[in-house]
Amino acid sequence: MIIIMKETASAKDIDAVEKKLTGFGFQTHPIYGEKKTVIGAIGDKRQISMNEILLMNGVENVVPIMRPYKLVSKELIREKSVIDVGHGVTVGGNQLAVFAGPCAIEGKEQFAKVARLVKASGANILRGGAFKPRTSPYSFGGLEGEGLEIMRAAGDELDMPICTEVMDTRDVELVARYADIIQIGARNMQNFKLLREVGKIKKPVLLKRGLASTIEEWLMAAEYIMSEGNDDVILCERGIRTYETSTRNTFDVSAIPVTQELSHLPIIADPSHATGTYKYVAPVAKAAIAAGADGLMIEVHDCPECASSDGPQSLKPEKFDKLMKELKAIADAVGRELVL
Ligand code: PEP
Ligand code: MN
Repeated sequence: MIIIMKETASAKDIDAVEKKLTGFGFQTHPIYGEKKTVIGAIGDKRQISMNEILLMNGVENVVPIMRPYKLVSKELIREKSVIDVGHGVTVGGNQLAVFAGPCAIEGKEQFAKVARLVKASGANILRGGAFKPRTSPYSFGGLEGEGLEIMRAAGDELDMPICTEVMDTRDVELVARYADIIQIGARNMQNFKLLREVGKIKKPVLLKRGLASTIEEWLMAAEYIMSEGNDDVILCERGIRTYETSTRNTFDVSAIPVTQELSHLPIIADPSHATGTYKYVAPVAKAAIAAGADGLMIEVHDCPECASSDGPQSLKPEKFDKLMKELKAIADAVGRELVL
């Protein structure tokens, strides 16, 4: 439920309401607005009568949160979240966030080269996998710790935040030591223990939509992270499994306005994993920005033919550069800023 405090409510009144709620086993989440404070209270409603809260000093109103996800919901937090991901970059503000880089970190030179090129084209966040979820156990699984070192060095040299995936609860601490943004991949969207672990750390989390997940299941996964105290969640639509086989997945463009209506969390789009084919990346990227996405995640490789993973969907740096210039016009048309 949401407890709306009066403009005249004192800090003591707010504190008393919070104490009352926590005493009944509720988790409280105060949001201090310019004029009023609202307190999100998550717990078992049967434990307490709304009237009891309503009668407390300084309380203006008590309203239930109807959605199953609470902290993620716009019912509780109306203003769009703007997430500071470090190195002077935010996700969810007017400026678009562009995550770019290879699928996997394959080596120091390879990563440094791609990183330099994508930055020159206007990307503001580096992506790359050190722990790779692969369908086959015989495929390249990533450079792990060495990959994290390579990525961090490139990020520091270029003064850019880095985003990389964690697949296992046992690696959360290690990945968090290097990364600015922790990625939860599609295959792990409902790995609830992993969601709880990344919820306990103080680093933004990029939560990809599960391979066959509904928007509600995806928002519930975000709720797991937020319920542990980490408010900095960025959603990423990366296509879902449908009966269509011409593309690797089916990009759900409507997920962008739908999640924006339901949640205050920023949402970016990943046209690379959505389509699986480099030729379709640019049109889908443009559609996502036109639909209101807060940014993009795009795989770029200097030699897609030699890439150790996801070569067929990776853009060559020249193609990425051309796309960024084309995206600028679309960003302008929808009132968003794309800094090249
Ligand atoms: C990735 O970003 O490299 C990745 C594996 O993505 P997804 O989890 O969306 O398949
Ligand atoms: Mn990939």
